[in-house]
Amino acid sequence: MIRPPIQVTKTFLPPKAIFDKYTDQIWNSKILTNQGPLVKEFEDKQKLYLDVENFHFVTNGTLALQLALKSLDITMGEVITTPFSYVATTSAILWERCEPVFVDIDPKTLCMDPHKIEKAITHKTKAILPVHVFGNACDVELIEEIAKRHKLKIIYDGAHAFGSELMGKSLLSYGDITICSFHATKPFHTIEGGCIIPRQSDISQNIDLLKRFGHTGDNHYQLGINAKASEFQAAMGLANLEFVEKIISGRQKVASMYDRALGGTYSRPIIAKDLVYNYAYYPIIFESEEQLLIKKTALEGENIHPRRYFYPSLNLLPYLKSKQSCPISEDISKRILCLPMYEGLKREDMGMICDILLKK
Ligand SMILES: *Cc1c(COP(=O)(O)O)cnc(C)c1O
Repeated sequence: MIRPPIQVTKTFLPPKAIFDKYTDQIWNSKILTNQGPLVKEFEDKQKLYLDVENFHFVTNGTLALQLALKSLDITMGEVITTPFSYVATTSAILWERCEPVFVDIDPKTLCMDPHKIEKAITHKTKAILPVHVFGNACDVELIEEIAKRHKLKIIYDGAHAFGSELMGKSLLSYGDITICSFHATKPFHTIEGGCIIPRQSDISQNIDLLKRFGHTGDNHYQLGINAKASEFQAAMGLANLEFVEKIISGRQKVASMYDRALGGTYSRPIIAKDLVYNYAYYPIIFESEEQLLIKKTALEGENIHPRRYFYPSLNLLPYLKSKQSCPISEDISKRILCLPMYEGLKREDMGMICDILLKK
């Protein structure tokens, strides 16, 4: 029998009956989109679950980032960001015609090094856009202090951070705005989807207009876009919300099995203190890119597919206007590999992965 491939992640699917319970409501209401009853229910439940005032469910995390920038009126300026992330963090900045200015990462947490932010601030800087990479927390207190001093906005890319809690609050509740992705590859998903969590209610009202073409009825207030999530996405979200604890504790189990099996063989990012972690990814850092490639090829030979998250370092994207150097991110991005990590990863599959990684 041929074993199916083991991918870096495996999308959690709720029991079909629970999904059906929600989709049956769509057949009854005949409402498929435009802030229907399931989207409203999903947004209300998320506000309670995350304990946040404002929450907008949108089509994906990338549009969430773009709307976050737009709603804070961040146009034509510089946005300080991290080079160690998925490409959408940088592309959203470019798409909004701003210029990304990269601040290198802390080699221990892999998040933006807050001590390097002030040097990167110029008269053109409008905002700081850090990433809670792999669900780990940025230094939110220091970043807030710097932003206040320089009158800058903070947008957190919390695409990996659903379920992480910092100092007793959801990690998605910090900054002027935090966004999250609910893509099928993320720990919590709505097939495609994302959310925008603004702190201020006036910004929230603005996002409410921006996400649906900038008008209500025949009154057109401003330029908008279409970022509305559908009732089917909400149905998946509502079903999955019933399993968040199970998903996170399942991932935690896999992470501790990896920890035990690998011992201290590979270096790992250090999780922020005061963080209740969501185990979004399981990255390991090799001594060299050459060793990474040897192990990656060996795993692929067994039909196991880890991913090079995140490679290349985003300051090296070929379509950037300016050359910027981020030696730490460039170095780590060449040596870091994310192992298969999902609720329900089989013990024997994990054993095989670790055997390959531990073989001399
Ligand atoms: C996945 C991801 C995004 C984009 O989210 P989508 O929902 O796929 O558009 C943005 N930032 C980071 C860090 C991500 O990992």
